[in-house]
Amino acid sequence: MRQELQLELQSQFAFMKRDMSLGNRYQNYGCECGDGWFELIQELCQRITNVYKFEGIDDIDIEILQIKEKFGKLRFYYRHFGDSNIIQAIDFLGVGSLRLSPPSDEECEYKKKISELVHSYEEWSSHICEKCGGRGALRTDFVWKKTLCEDCYQEMIESN
Ligand SMILES: [Zn+2]
Repeated sequence: MRQELQLELQSQFAFMKRDMSLGNRYQNYGCECGDGWFELIQELCQRITNVYKFEGIDDIDIEILQIKEKFGKLRFYYRHFGDSNIIQAIDFLGVGSLRLSPPSDEECEYKKKISELVHSYEEWSSHICEKCGGRGALRTDFVWKKTLCEDCYQEMIESN
């Protein structure tokens, strides 16, 4: 995604700010997808923000890990601060069946809402052209899968 659009996301949403000290993939590479998904990502970020507002939570405890295109669809990887270490510890010990004491109901509720939002936007990306943002469809006849509108699809066929 071009710089100008990325900077717009970063200025609108504090949790989208890139901070190299965190050192994850997103911080280093930004949004690894086409410009056509700018509005989709912007809307998702707005709706995530709204969840926190609605729940009366002031601090948005999200760290963006990676935003990219994979198999023609958007992937939006994030974690809540403090969550991931626990999961990594469990993975490391190889005790998948271990149950952690559940977080408080309130905490669970907003995390669940955000996870559902992210999932639905990832799905919706397969209807939006990654190149231009027009109405697209998931094209599966290239070596790579891509979500493209008719025009961008024809262009891609001609350039191949
Ligand atoms: Zn297009």
